Amino acid sequence: MTMPEAEIPTIADPEAGTCHAPGEQMQAKARASGMAEILDQYAADYPKGPHDQPQSMCPAFGSLRVGLRMRRVGTMLSGSACCVYGLTFVSHFYGARRSVGYVPFNSESLVTGKLFEDIRDAVHEMADPDRYDAIVVTNLCVPTASGVPLRLLPTEINGVRIVGIDVPGFGVPTHAEAKDILAGAMLNYARAEAEAGPVPRPTGGTADRPAVALMGEMFPADPVVIGQMLSPMGLAAGPVVPCREWRELYAALDCGVAAAIHPFYTAAVREFHAAGRKVVGSAPVGHDGTAAWLAAIGDAYGIAADKVAEAQNAVLPAIRGALAATPLDATITLSGYEGSELLVARLLIESGARVPYVGTACPKTPWSEADAAWLADRGVKVTFRASLEDDLAAMEAVKPDLAIGTTPVVQKAKEAGIPSLYFTNLISARPLMGPAGAGSLQEVVIAAIGNRDRMGKMREFFEGSGQGDTAGIWEGAPNLRPDFRESHQKKLDKQARAAKAQEMI
Ligand code: SF4
Repeated sequence: MTMPEAEIPTIADPEAGTCHAPGEQMQAKARASGMAEILDQYAADYPKGPHDQPQSMCPAFGSLRVGLRMRRVGTMLSGSACCVYGLTFVSHFYGARRSVGYVPFNSESLVTGKLFEDIRDAVHEMADPDRYDAIVVTNLCVPTASGVPLRLLPTEINGVRIVGIDVPGFGVPTHAEAKDILAGAMLNYARAEAEAGPVPRPTGGTADRPAVALMGEMFPADPVVIGQMLSPMGLAAGPVVPCREWRELYAALDCGVAAAIHPFYTAAVREFHAAGRKVVGSAPVGHDGTAAWLAAIGDAYGIAADKVAEAQNAVLPAIRGALAATPLDATITLSGYEGSELLVARLLIESGARVPYVGTACPKTPWSEADAAWLADRGVKVTFRASLEDDLAAMEAVKPDLAIGTTPVVQKAKEAGIPSLYFTNLISARPLMGPAGAGSLQEVVIAAIGNRDRMGKMREFFEGSGQGDTAGIWEGAPNLRPDFRESHQKKLDKQARAAKAQEMI
C-alpha cells in the first residue's frame, strides 16, 4: 500500500527520531497521520500529571520484554535504528536469548508508505506456524508519528496471529504501561477467539477450581503462595498476566475474578470487564493487606464469611509472626517505576519502618486506591507520577537510614553516604506475598542499612575527586569553560523562544 503523498506528514525536526524531540510536535504529527484515536485511548488509560512524563527508560522496553518472555511469540520492531539498537541491547542485557526482528526505514520509505509494505512482507516471511503462535509488531516513536498503520496488517497469516501495537515515547508515559498495552492487545485478540468458538487449554492445564487471574509480573514463588492462601476458600491462583504462552490468555479470561496486583493494567482490566469478570485491587501483602485482599476476593466470588475467615486464619498468624521476627527500626524513603511501590511500603511499615515518602512513576488508579488510603492514614506522602526531582527532594529532606529507589536516586544516595537499594533489581526480584515476603524484605533492608559505615568510608575515599563535570583525577585544574556553557544556554533559550512563538501562530 502506498499512501497518497498529501496525507504523509514529514518529520523535519533533526531530533525527531530521538527521545529529545518535542513531545507535543510528535503528538501533533501522529494525530495528523491518523493516530488520534489510539493516542486518545492512551491519554485516557495512562493519565499524566502532576508530572508529565517520569524519567524512565524507553517505554517500548516494557512491551518488548513482555513479548520476548512468551513462548512461541516472535517480536518485530519498527523504529529508528538507534532506538532499536538500545532496546535490543537492553533486552539481551536482561537475558532475552532470542532474536528481535527489525524492519529498517529511511526517509523515503517512511514518507512514501513503503515502510508499511516492508513490515507486511517481513511479517509474511516470519509467520511460520511451526515456530510461532503469534508475532508482535511494535511501532516506535517515528513510525507512530508518521502514521504507519499497523492496524491494516493481516490479523493472521498461516495460523500465526499478528498483533500490531504503537508504543511511542510521546504517548505512553512509562515502560510499565507499555506492558499493559501489549497485555491488553493480546487479551483483546484472545477474547475474540474465545467468543468465536472453542479454544485450546494451556499446556500446563487449568485449575480444577474457580481461579483468580493475577495481573502483574511477580517473583515466581508469589503466585504459588497466593494459590495456597486462596485454597481454603475453594479457589486457585490462575495465570499471571502478562502471560508466558498464548493459551494462558484464554485461561486468564476464563477466571471469574482478576486481581490487579500491579495497579496500572488499565487496558487488561478493560478486557476482563468486557469478558464479564470482576476485578479486585491491591494485593495480599503483609498482615492488613492480606486480610483485606482475601476478604475482597471472597466477596467478588460470593464465598461464605466462614470460609473467608478460615483462609485468613490459615495465614495471618504466620505473617504476623514473620513481621515481628526481625523488626525494622529505620526511616526509609522509597521510589520506583514497577507499580509495586505502595505494596512494598505497606510491608515496610508493618515491619516497623518509618516511611515518610513513597514515589511511583505509575498513575493513580482505582486498583491502588486502598493502598494509597492505608499509607495516607499512617502519614505517608504518596506521590503518583513522581519525577526524579520529587524523589531526590524527598531523600534530601528526609535524610533516611535507607533510600530504596531507581538508579539515579541510588547514585545520589551513595554520593551522600546514605545506604541505598535498587528497587528493580533488589526489591522486585524477591517474594512479597505471605510470611516469606515479610521475612525476605526485612533481611535485605537490614543488610543494606548495616552498610552505613562502609558508605561513609567510600565517601571519604572519593573525597576530593570532584563532582559532575569536574569528576575524576585531574593533573591540573579542571578545564571549565563557563563561556561555552553560557553560549549553549543562550542557544537553548533561543530555541525555546522560537518554539513558543511557533505555538502562538
Ligand atoms: S522509541 Fe524509545 S528510544 Fe526511540 S525516540 Fe521513542 S522513546 Fe526514545
